[in-house]
Amino acid sequence: MRANPTWEDLPLRPELRSARPYGAPQLDLPVCLNVNENPYPLPEAVHQAMMAAVESTLANIHRYPDREALVLRGKLATYLGHGLSANQIWAANGSNEVMTEILQCFAGPGRTLLTFPPTYSMYPEYARNTHTQFVTTPRREDFQIDLDQVAQAISLYHPDVIVIANPNNPTGTLTTLEDIEAILNLSEAIVIVDEAYQEFSSAPSALDLLDHYGNLIVARTMSKAFAFAGGRLGYAAAATTIIDALRVVRLPYHLSALTQAVAGAALDHAEAMLAQVDHLSLLREATIEQLRALGLTVIDSRANFFLFGPFADRHATWQALVDRGVLVRETGPESYLRVSVGTDQEMETFIYALAAVLAPDPAASPNSQRSAA
Ligand SMILES: *Cc1c(COP(=O)(O)O)cnc(C)c1O
Repeated sequence: MRANPTWEDLPLRPELRSARPYGAPQLDLPVCLNVNENPYPLPEAVHQAMMAAVESTLANIHRYPDREALVLRGKLATYLGHGLSANQIWAANGSNEVMTEILQCFAGPGRTLLTFPPTYSMYPEYARNTHTQFVTTPRREDFQIDLDQVAQAISLYHPDVIVIANPNNPTGTLTTLEDIEAILNLSEAIVIVDEAYQEFSSAPSALDLLDHYGNLIVARTMSKAFAFAGGRLGYAAAATTIIDALRVVRLPYHLSALTQAVAGAALDHAEAMLAQVDHLSLLREATIEQLRALGLTVIDSRANFFLFGPFADRHATWQALVDRGVLVRETGPESYLRVSVGTDQEMETFIYALAAVLAPDPAASPNSQRSAA
């Protein structure tokens, strides 16, 4: 091959030829409300504990870490409760990695993943990366999962893995445990309940069902409510045999000693890490009310984000908000935008900017005279 090959020169797998790296734009703006992070920085006491954990880890940094991450998995089990123990927990670098490993075990060539759009945009990417056939059955108009459609899809596609985001991203919709149980009763497939936003939902977790359904995997992350997105720690709870299967496909030493130590320190201070969760849920409700008062439609949400619209040209609205220093997300149903719940100050800025975008009256907005250009 010639030097400096073009994309076309590369002997790429055909399904990657038209693919581009996934991800929300990472723009350096004053108010970033686009990837559902917890906006509050580390409490001082946790900062200290993490520094101490790093310090003692560095003494052994010339050695490989604990391949099984048993101390960390024990702490995750304690955090989840439900009588779980370390051998029912798996952990990796973000729940993205956990879910890819689940598909490596239970999906793959000749196998099928079923999910319910509009939902998390990474699911088709996990499927593609693991050579899994990706099939969907749409949610109802109110974004609830349609159990009749699910039953039909299961008899049509015979999925090997079913993924339910709960609360769903990007709609924020909560699926009841009854509906999840109904789906578990329809199929012997591995059912992943992706509870990335569970802590915001004040609803019971699918962990309640683990004792009764051996094919259930509950996926979680420390990236959202736990305010640890930069630490990259996702995890899952399931039957011990499922965890053992994941241990087969994981890369050796996949979780760095630093990740294990710092995540462990965060879990030792779970209460402090989660201290703002209730406030964020209340702020979500207050912000939704304010947007409705502006005449917008807002989709009810049980997570730390919600969809709002409709906009004839949502990209133009997105851009107008960017021009005012506010980054939201262009995702989900056409004509809607998604915003994450930030701090009180950030939400005030967001609403002020949005009101200005909706009613572009130069007299009403002191910042609109191109001074920002
Ligand atoms: C953010 C998110 C995740 C996971 O993120 P990680 O940072 O990889 O742990 C998983 N599922 C959904 C639905 C999400 O929104």
